[in-house]
Amino acid sequence: MGRQRICVIEDEEDIAELIRFTLEQARFETLILHNGLQALEKIKAFKPDLILLDLMLPDADGLDICKSLKKDTQLSSIPVIMLTAKGTEMDRIVGFELGADDYIVKPFSTRELVLRIKAILSRLSATFDTSPPDVIRQGIILMDVSRHKVQVDGKDIELTATEFNLLHEFMTNIGRVRTRDVLLDRVWGYSFDGYARTVDTHIRRLRQKLGPAMDYIETIRGVGYRFNVA
Ligand code: CA
Repeated sequence: MGRQRICVIEDEEDIAELIRFTLEQARFETLILHNGLQALEKIKAFKPDLILLDLMLPDADGLDICKSLKKDTQLSSIPVIMLTAKGTEMDRIVGFELGADDYIVKPFSTRELVLRIKAILSRLSATFDTSPPDVIRQGIILMDVSRHKVQVDGKDIELTATEFNLLHEFMTNIGRVRTRDVLLDRVWGYSFDGYARTVDTHIRRLRQKLGPAMDYIETIRGVGYRFNVA
């Protein structure tokens, strides 16, 4: 298999160079774009496995680019990590509603950048390489999907169907931020106003049952949740 490709849309030269250097050290092939206007065509030609997208570009709003990416049938399945100096919750929520997979707030550590990218790419290859596995292991959690059984650190735990489905959604989306709306849609099959608290309540109970693995579910304030194996 060839090297995985990352497209970086970032106007600040020094940050772009730092990212290029970091990604090449980590054995990724990179394409740096300094502006948003011609981004879509160049991305199509490059066929990246993942896109790093700066939100503040001189000629375009990163959020608009994200929207265009997610509307384009050739590009919509490519995961997007937003780079943002604007750490406000509102920016993050809008980004996730537009289909971004994760975000990194500047200034970031290059190590964190590589870890986030690898988390998303390994989740994708796990999804596409084989048919859905019957048994999923993440850290100390073992999930037997066909038998609806879960063990934490070798001990059986009892989950309701909803808690099981929530955990399954997390365990098959490692490192990916899930908004409450996405969770409602994927786990409950519907999403409408006022149900966000339902999600929080179920997550609270699921965390309690996970015991020593409870910290795998990280709360992203104002946005939703992310599952990571520490
Ligand atoms: Ca910028």
